[in-house]
Order: sequence, then structure tokens, then C-alpha cells
Amino acid sequence: QVIYLNGQFVEKEQAVVSVFDHGFLYGDGIFEGIRIYGGNIFKCREHLNRLYDSAKSIMLDIPLSYEEMEQALVETIRRNGMKDGYIRLVVSRGTGNLGLDPRRCPVASVVIIVEQLAIYPEEAYVQGLKTVSVSSRRNIPDALNPKIKSLNYLNNILVKIQANLADVGEAIMLNAQGYVAEGSSDNIFIVKNGIVFTPPCYIGALEGITRAAIIELCEKLGYKLKEEPFTLHDVYVADEVFFTGTAAEVIAVREVDGRIIGSGQAGPITTHLLQEFRGIVTVDGVK
Ligand code: PMP
Repeated sequence: QVIYLNGQFVEKEQAVVSVFDHGFLYGDGIFEGIRIYGGNIFKCREHLNRLYDSAKSIMLDIPLSYEEMEQALVETIRRNGMKDGYIRLVVSRGTGNLGLDPRRCPVASVVIIVEQLAIYPEEAYVQGLKTVSVSSRRNIPDALNPKIKSLNYLNNILVKIQANLADVGEAIMLNAQGYVAEGSSDNIFIVKNGIVFTPPCYIGALEGITRAAIIELCEKLGYKLKEEPFTLHDVYVADEVFFTGTAAEVIAVREVDGRIIGSGQAGPITTHLLQEFRGIVTVDGVK
């Protein structure tokens, strides 16, 4: 496994960044998780757009142009001989001193890691996941704006810890007002009476790229889709519930806080959307 580190390709063991890197000291940086399907970087442009928007918002100067970044991704994949896998792209503020002033970090650090990935076994996509809602609340728009895919994931990690304690793979996070926001690293959808619902991102959800792909697929397949706020009650009484994310794709939920959802396994619309999603992953992106 070779890692891209600031313009060089280095072995995993040599891929180290300074303890003075503000990504390490302060979580000052941004990242993307991207999939490779059949040698294709899925939704590459969308991920890079989100990365460069996050960078602009936090005034982080990425030392590579958009085209250079795309090339760096392609080259890292090529050197690892990867056809199907996951890319983690991290840009941190770079090495500075102990103060938090970003002006002390002249150059951002750029890291690209490609790895194999299988987060859920195939049966989970048929049987659905058990999930719970947790007490951690999603950050509301401010410095921790969910639109910025920053390295500040402590909130999400607290959700993951609560998910672990409940022995479930993903959990549901609400916003400060109690509306359903998203999972620890996935967006959430529900289906009721044939209509697909997902919270609007202003509720406190990342503008997920899989989420956008599913919204687009709903339009194409003729499912009515509404972006509107909903509560846990709506989740409990939904016909279908599913999460979307780069790693998870489209994963059904069969139980939420002890309430069985629909028939207790992946519902028909979730299954259809997963199938259609898997149909577009090798065609929509950069070869
Ligand atoms: N929400 C959060 C908090 C996430 O970290 C992720 C994963 N990047 C998602 C949603 C899903 O977004 P995407 O479909 O772009 O992977």
C-alpha cells in the first residue's frame, strides 16, 4: 500500500505527519471519503467540489489545483492497483506551532489513502440494520457547519460510541430542536405511503453525495421525494427507513429504538434504489 503524502508516494509505515500539524493539534482540516468502482472514481467532481468549498469556507489554501488533485487521486489508485475500494483524501492546515493561528502553518498537508472496503456484509442490505437514536445533538450552522466536511468529528464519534454501546452499526442523531438530522456518517431517508422523505440539510446534515444521487434517482424512477423536517415519531411509523453514504451505499433499517420498521427487512423502494444505485456507480465518475 502506497500513500500519497504532500506530492510524494511513500510506504504506509513512512506515511507520517508532524505532531505540530494543526490537523492533529486542533482538528483543523477537511476530508473526503470517495469510492472506486470498477476503476472509476465515483462522483469525483462532486467530492472535489465539496472539498474545495469546505477549504474556501475555512480559508484553507489547498496547494494543488483541482486538476492536479484529480491526477493525484488517479495516480494513487494506479500505484495501488486498486479497482474497487475507498479513497480517503485529507487536507489539514499543515505544520505550525502550538498556537492555533493558521498563519503559522504555511503549507497545508495533503494525504491520499486508498484501501479495500466492506463495512456491512451483503445480508445486511437485505435484512436491514438495527439502529437507535442517541442523545448527542448535531452541530448547528456555525463554525461546525455540517456543510463543511471538517476533521472535527468528535460529535459523530460520540454518536458512534453510543451506537457501539447499543451494539448497532449506525445511529440516528437529532438536531438541537429534536428533528432528525442524520447518522454518524450517513444521511437518513424514510418512506411513508410511497413518498420518500429526507431532512433538508439546514436541519444539520452533511450535503451527502450519495444523498444527492438518491434524490436524483428518485426523480428518474418517478418516486415522489420531499426534503422536509421530521421527528423520531415519523421514523418509528415509516414503512421504510434507510441510510445513505459513500461507504454504506443504501442500507435498509429494520428496527429503530425497538420499533420494527415495515415488514422488518429491506422494503421494496429501498431495495429498488439500492439496485439502481449500484447500476450507476461504475458509469458516473472519472476513469
Ligand atoms: N453525514 C456525515 C456526517 C458523513 O460523515 C457522511 C460521510 N461522508 C455522510 C453523511 C454521507 O455523505 P456521502 O454520501 O457524501 O458519503
